[in-house]
Amino acid sequence: MSADADVVVAGGGPAGLQFAREIASRSEYSVTVLEANDRLSDNDKSTGGTFDQVIERYGIPDSVVMAENEDVVFEAPGASSRLPIPGYVLDFPAFLEFLGEDAESHGAEIRTGARVAEPVVERGRVVGVEYWDDGEKRRFDADLVVDATGPRAVLAKQLDMFDPASAQRGIGKEYEVRGRYDLDSMLFRFDHEVAPGGYAWTFPAGDDVFKVGICWIEDFYDTHRAPDDGTIDEYVAEWLTRDPRWEAEDRRAVHAGDAVSNNSINQRATDGLVAVGDAVSSINPLFGEGIRPGMESAEMAANVALAALDRGDTSRERLSVYEDAWNDEKGLQWRIQRIVCELLYDFTPEQQRRFVTSAGRLSDAQVGRLQAYELTVGDYLDLYPFDPSDLSKLPAIARHV
Ligand SMILES: Cc1cc2nc3c(=O)[nH]c(=O)nc-3n(C[C@H](O)[C@H](O)[C@H](O)COP(=O)(O)OP(=O)(O)OC[C@H]3O[C@@H](n4cnc5c(N)ncnc54)[C@H](O)[C@@H]3O)c2cc1C
Repeated sequence: MSADADVVVAGGGPAGLQFAREIASRSEYSVTVLEANDRLSDNDKSTGGTFDQVIERYGIPDSVVMAENEDVVFEAPGASSRLPIPGYVLDFPAFLEFLGEDAESHGAEIRTGARVAEPVVERGRVVGVEYWDDGEKRRFDADLVVDATGPRAVLAKQLDMFDPASAQRGIGKEYEVRGRYDLDSMLFRFDHEVAPGGYAWTFPAGDDVFKVGICWIEDFYDTHRAPDDGTIDEYVAEWLTRDPRWEAEDRRAVHAGDAVSNNSINQRATDGLVAVGDAVSSINPLFGEGIRPGMESAEMAANVALAALDRGDTSRERLSVYEDAWNDEKGLQWRIQRIVCELLYDFTPEQQRRFVTSAGRLSDAQVGRLQAYELTVGDYLDLYPFDPSDLSKLPAIARHV
């Protein structure tokens, strides 16, 4: 059967759209994105906090940036530290629309309302996908298939490349609010009273608008929640009203979703297919930052895919250069940070206080490494608030080593 396009991408989030942008803007290969939602902007789960590595490297325009800040504040009960990390808050739905329009302007096709159901595998190689379109199941063949369906990992899961059920699950909920916000920083608070087993945040989002949210990791939430606690909505509502530094007038939007992560060292390529972004757990397992690594994984995969398409060889052997590149660049840090995650969200309040205090003592060079996820062993030791109770966590940590 002749291919319907050279490349088909399942999923139009940051990773899938960046992959399509890379292929369409750097080659003559045809690329089609199949997105389940009716509009790209319907994927509005994310807070959209991001950094220079995304804005500058991927040419993100000011029009989709809601706010720009000079620093990040870490807080815990009894401690507060300001870290000189410039950041941006994106209008996430508008950001996705921009990525889609830009990909289209370079010749990519974006089909919305197209839910991918399964890979088409012939003689052991992925040759296309089946997808639902207007109640009808259709087939789309391509020389290269990309799974970018986010934490559902629709294709990677069926191909036994990544099983989201075996990974750690976090959930997050955020209100976008109009009102008074006295800070000009992205604020992260580590405090089990506010966000048991996770963290709370507030981000500025333009004139008289801010975002306020809570996320937690299910395992640690169960350990640290109050016996009579309520829903995540109640936690967000409480976080919104408990602090005099901000005051809500009305709620403009609600964003929510889950984040599924392991140490990211997963199979990323098979014959005829690569997986990018959260479909193969590229999200940082410590802080849940997923836009930057998702787009980076897309760029890495596209570099390898373009060379493979040029040679007419999209075998696993050729495509796994992408998997090796990811593991070389991110694998070790993501693995360590998966372990640190096991500790951080289970800290006692005193450890949370000491961790935030230590973060405030990092040198500028160390802060740079923290932001780039390139911490050294010495940096981790400077940050780590050891407590004898940590010894009881060794069996859980050993699993990750
Ligand atoms: C509450 C919350 C807040 C967050 N805040 C931040 C933040 O501030 N900064 C940050 O960097 N990261 C944040 N993240 C994480 C970040 O949003 C994700 O890591 C990132 O969106 C992953 O991009 P992706 O393209 O891999 O997947 P996704 O964004 O999940 O996109 C996947 C796309 O695939 C589509 N899809 C799914 N199934 C199918 C199918 N069967 N067929 C076709 N299409 C399909 C989906 O509709 C979606 O559009 C947050 C996550 C949550 C849940």
